[in-house]
Amino acid sequence: MSARPRIVILGGGFAGLESAFYLRTKLDGRADLTLVSDSPQFLFKPNTIYIPFGADPASLLIPLAGPAAKREIRLVEGAVEGLDADASRIRVAGKDLDYDFLVIATGAAMRPQEISGLAEHAETIWTPTQMVSLGKRLNEVAAGAAVGSEPTILFNVPPGNKCAGPLYEIVLMVETWLRRRGLRDRVRLVHTTYEDTYIQAFGPKLHGVVTAEFAERGIEGRLRVRLASVDAGTARFEHRSSESFDLLVSFPPYIAAVTYDGLLADDRGFLATEPGSRRLVGHERIYAPGDAGDFPVKQAFLAFLQADAVAEAIAAEVAGTVPAGSFDPVSMCVMEEFDKATFAQVPLEVTGNPDHPVVVRADADGRYRVGVSPAWRLGKKLLGLYLPLRFRAGLPFHAGLPWRAMDLGLRGMSAVLARR
Ligand SMILES: Cc1cc2nc3c(=O)[nH]c(=O)nc-3n(C[C@H](O)[C@H](O)[C@H](O)COP(=O)(O)OP(=O)(O)OC[C@H]3O[C@@H](n4cnc5c(N)ncnc54)[C@H](O)[C@@H]3O)c2cc1C
Repeated sequence: MSARPRIVILGGGFAGLESAFYLRTKLDGRADLTLVSDSPQFLFKPNTIYIPFGADPASLLIPLAGPAAKREIRLVEGAVEGLDADASRIRVAGKDLDYDFLVIATGAAMRPQEISGLAEHAETIWTPTQMVSLGKRLNEVAAGAAVGSEPTILFNVPPGNKCAGPLYEIVLMVETWLRRRGLRDRVRLVHTTYEDTYIQAFGPKLHGVVTAEFAERGIEGRLRVRLASVDAGTARFEHRSSESFDLLVSFPPYIAAVTYDGLLADDRGFLATEPGSRRLVGHERIYAPGDAGDFPVKQAFLAFLQADAVAEAIAAEVAGTVPAGSFDPVSMCVMEEFDKATFAQVPLEVTGNPDHPVVVRADADGRYRVGVSPAWRLGKKLLGLYLPLRFRAGLPFHAGLPWRAMDLGLRGMSAVLARR
């Protein structure tokens, strides 16, 4: 290892930036940090759900150059092209970078092609461009309903998707949006999923909340239907059932955004990691926090926790100490519905069972909390303000006084509003 270790971080998303800023905070000047990104901007993905309803995509971007310069992090713009783990070298946009520690945080991508016709016939939710397209189609459907058509909007979570929550947000938001336009009774809303329960990863309490919300809002829900193929106007499921639609909205199957030759990965390219440190199996100094790694649920909040654990592990090795913490998968999310929001805090346990890869921990007790209230919309707004503030300043999400204040606020709110 060099006297001043070279730490290279791949990916300028949640896990990459949190790792970089947390490492700088922990190590001050004791390491050279390099951030590699194929995009000059960070995208605040969770808030792209507002784009179909009019939010400006540009408002969700944070240029990386400013925060990187503030924290003396070298920014290399370009796509990762290859890794030579034996030589501790990564190739980016035609140039080689040597490292002592490597953090792989290149995230996930979509593979709608796994289901015949999905890419051609569905609006999918992943990039801001797709969200703009969805907004256009929703407006067309609403305009048709206003002049007498009775359209069906079909929502679908197919097998292979690793983050179902946002699609549930979209269906609930669409319901409120139509109701506020006086069009709700003219549009049939149907939600279909391969899951055994709604938002299966987050356990029985979330299922109960969604079941009640669907019933109250007249949304037809179908569980355990695995999308097999799509053609114009019809979604076909395994075992011969089908649904007709005027608009199909789907969150496609996930794959890793980048494949790394020679590294152990699952069948979708997600890198095999040790549970607590997110260190790669078989590689002492390579880590994979966030969507790029093999944690079965892909979520920004979990990406932050993983990045913090990675930064702790690397900082401890550089400083010759022991890590101050490891990854404890307690997920937290606030789901938008426009008229209210749902909060969930879910301590998770990995099972190794592909049909139920995570369950709520049996000993979760009072830590498994779910609540529904208009006040949670404020929680979502606060998170939406807090995160850009931290990242623009080159500071990690989970550190220092501001996070302790946010955390206290969320705990206080959840003690009152999420006791289920
Ligand atoms: C619509 C939607 C809503 C969501 N809502 C929520 C929510 O409410 N709460 C929540 O916790 N999570 C939510 N998520 C999930 C969350 O956004 C992801 O889990 C999170 O972005 C993962 O962070 P990451 O850093 O691992 O990956 P990303 O944020 O995807 O970052 C990956 C980075 O790697 C870069 N990259 C990719 N390929 C290369 C390459 N070849 N070379 C160089 N750089 C590369 C990308 O440009 C990007 O900067 C949502 C996701 C979507 C799509």
